[in-house]
Amino acid sequence: MATQLVDAHGRRVRKLRLSLTDKCNLRCHYCMPLDATFMSEAKYLQPAEYFEVVSELCEVGLEELRLTGGEPLMRKSFDEIALLLSRLPLKKIGLTTNAVLLDRHLDVLKQARVEHLNISLDSLDATTFHKVTHGNHLARVLKNIELAKKAGFSVKINVVAMRGVNDHEVFDFAEYARNLDVEVRFLELMRIGHALEKQSSQFISAAELMKNLGTRYQLTREVTSLDSTSFNFRLSNGARIGFIASESKAFCGQCSRWRLSADGIMRACLFKDDGLSIRSTTSGERGALYRTLLGMKPFLRPAEVIHPMNAIGG
Ligand code: SAM
Ligand code: SF4
Repeated sequence: MATQLVDAHGRRVRKLRLSLTDKCNLRCHYCMPLDATFMSEAKYLQPAEYFEVVSELCEVGLEELRLTGGEPLMRKSFDEIALLLSRLPLKKIGLTTNAVLLDRHLDVLKQARVEHLNISLDSLDATTFHKVTHGNHLARVLKNIELAKKAGFSVKINVVAMRGVNDHEVFDFAEYARNLDVEVRFLELMRIGHALEKQSSQFISAAELMKNLGTRYQLTREVTSLDSTSFNFRLSNGARIGFIASESKAFCGQCSRWRLSADGIMRACLFKDDGLSIRSTTSGERGALYRTLLGMKPFLRPAEVIHPMNAIGG
């Protein structure tokens, strides 16, 4: 077997976030402006290019793939790409989505063994949902989450916690997690791209959210894998709750992820603007490029990044 991708700190690359588009049907205020501009579709990697790159990464130890964006379900060739990638020897394939279009894709996701769905849902209240996303799709998203659960998908809900916006909803989410039997994970607002504007005023730490939840529930720690981005708890109401504390409790020392943007830039870190383009490269050239990229992964969390989240692939 070819040599695995392990860096000087012993971090092995075994997960890839694959961005299919930077476009989106929502405009979450921390992610992109209302008048966001997007890359030309002519720049997109083609299905066969995704297949080739992911296939060779599987040979050097890639185990898990997550399709993301932008909103990945907006990519016109989503079905073709997902079905093609499902042929590869991946242990786990996931999708991160806002779920607006999810019902139309559940059948193909099943066929393509995309079993792990991370769904963004920042509020259970229609007014707040609109305030955050600039979309009126709360009812549709809630219905699609239920459909996905009923169809047997593993569903995790991502909630970006924001002071003064949705932090008063932690208890509602704890009840939602229990009632629907889904894991709800609170993400700290990261210092990335468009979020930089309001990050300091809206940031709320995982520790503060845990303290708030602790006033009503007992929290029991659950075991997670070493390179997991979240730390998880079972609440005394039975809910499964996690925290992704990238700001206050960065996990760079155990990070096992690379990211490939829709226009073919491979990045070793979400917080690094610089990456290497795999476009029009030969397999041999990519081998050398991967070795260079191993050395580009920071060990300590960079303070912030200006590059927009939707373009890197969240
Ligand atoms: N459109 C899909 C979605 O929203 O799930 C996938 C792409 S989105 C960029 C991936 C995840 O990143 C979402 O859960 C979103 O809430 C989160 N996200 C985006 N910007 C963020 C920020 N500045 N801090 C924390 N999470 C962020
Ligand atoms: Fe779209 Fe996801 Fe960004 Fe929201 S977080 S604007 S749903 S890409």
